[in-house]
This record gives sequence, structure tokens and C-alpha cells, in this order.
Amino acid sequence: MGLLEGKTAIITGAASPRGLGKATATLFAEHGARVAILDLDAAQAEDAAGDIGEDHIGLACDVTRKADCDAAVAAVLDAFAQIDILVNNAGITQPLRIMDISHENYDAVLDVNLLGTLNMSQAVIPHMRNRRTGSIVNMSSVSAQRGGGIFGGPHYSAAKAGVLGLTKAMARELAPDGIRSNAICPGFIATDITAGKLTPEMRVQILAGIPMGRAGEASDVAGCALFLASALSAYVTGSEVDVNGGSLIH
Ligand code: NAD
Repeated sequence: MGLLEGKTAIITGAASPRGLGKATATLFAEHGARVAILDLDAAQAEDAAGDIGEDHIGLACDVTRKADCDAAVAAVLDAFAQIDILVNNAGITQPLRIMDISHENYDAVLDVNLLGTLNMSQAVIPHMRNRRTGSIVNMSSVSAQRGGGIFGGPHYSAAKAGVLGLTKAMARELAPDGIRSNAICPGFIATDITAGKLTPEMRVQILAGIPMGRAGEASDVAGCALFLASALSAYVTGSEVDVNGGSLIH
């Protein structure tokens, strides 16, 4: 019996073939959920949904645009009639140093990671409130906790720290409505977000800081998302869960 039998989920940024969102969508589907994959490109989102099985849908949605988010939620409700889970996974990063961040860079990174999380959450909350149930899972990063150091610039750390604040504030405000909100802080996970952008020296240095001695797998993050999305975590809200091989033990 799957942990998400009879549940439906929206996962943003889940079309990336080796990404955390796709791995989460795959695991949710294996556990009985119907999944809506949202990403920038409709065809890629549809293909990703097809990859995980028949009952799932893919939709174009730029999370930086509130109108896109509202339209996607309406389309998912048409298809599935209910939304139990939202995973705010869409994200971008840029490896810039503090003095090199332009306003354009700042807007790009803050808009996808932080505004996108707010936009999608605002789009589903009225529905979740009506049903008095829901789980929102936000993808933050170890970068938020330790001030970068893996790949993203300071604006990425700031955006992901913003996601932690938003997660906790939503948890507080939405708890009386039966809606939980939690964050995952992945460490170094091998996906396309860093693919081809790390030098061998950077890789060696990163691995040296990980007690478990390996990069994370997308499935490691998906397992944590499943826990936070399912009733296993029924009394967990406002938490940030580290998925980092021990790299931030303190
Ligand atoms: P990825 O690049 O493989 O996937 C990100 C997806 O987000 C892509 O499919 C992309 O098209 C989509 N996206 C970008 N902008 C969007 C927008 N405006 N609207 C909708 N979708 C958009 O990256 P990933 O490694 O799977 O990262 C997933 C999340 O995990 C991100 O939020 C990332 O910041 C976070 N994260 C990743 C790592 C890591 O090591 N891989 C570590 C910590 C946090």
C-alpha cells in the first residue's frame, strides 16, 4: 500500500530529467499519488509526466508569474479535483561573487526561488484551506544555512534563506487550517543544476566536506519529500530537514 494512495500532488520544476523534482514525482507516483508536473516548457512537462505513468499530467507554468500559477492550479483541479500536496521545487542558481551580482541577477534568482514559492503557495492555499488539509514542501538548500559555498552565489543563499523564513511563517499561519509547511535543505546532489559546471578540483573539495563521502542522489531528496508529504509526518510543520550526508553537523 502506497503512502500517498488517493492523494494528488503538484511538483514545480519537475521536468528536468535528472532533477530532484522528477525523482520526487517518480517516488510519489510509485506510492499511489497522481502528480502534476509543472515546468517552463509544456512539451517537456508532458513528457516527464508520461515517463512516470498514465495518470499524471504535465503543464507549462512559469512560477515567477502569478497568473501562470493560478491557471495551473485551476487546470490541476479540473483534472484531479483536489490538491493534497505542493512541492515548490523550481529553482535556479548562479555562481557569482557578491560584487558581481547585478539587479538583473538578483531578480532572476529571487524571483524563481522565493517569489515562485510564494506565488504557487498562494495559488493552492485557498483550496487547501477549504478542505482543511494540505502539505507544502519547499526546496531550500544547505546554501541557506551555511552561506553558500557549494555553487550558488550570495543572492542564491539569500533566496533560499528567504524560503526557510517563508516556510516557517506559513507553517505558523496555516497550522490552524490543517495545512503543514516544511522545507528540505539538500546538500550537494548530482543533478543538471551543477552538471558540467564543477571542475574536478571543486568536486574533490566538496566531497572532502561530506562525512558520508559521496554526493547525494536525487532519490535521497525524494525520500525526504515523501516523508514530509505523507501522513508519516503528520505532526511535523515548520521544520527544515537536512539531506546532506552529514555535511552540516554542528
Ligand atoms: P534542475 O536544474 O535539474 O531542475 C530545476 C527545474 O526548475 C528545471 O526543470 C527548470 O526548467 C525549472 N525551472 C526553472 N525556472 C523555472 C520557472 N520560472 N518556473 C518553473 N520551473 C522553472 O535542478 P535540481 O538540482 O533538480 O534543483 C531542484 C531544486 O533543488 C532547486 O530549487 C534547487 O535550488 C534545489 N537544490 C538543489 C541542490 C543540488 O545540489 N542539486 C542543492 C540544494 C538545493
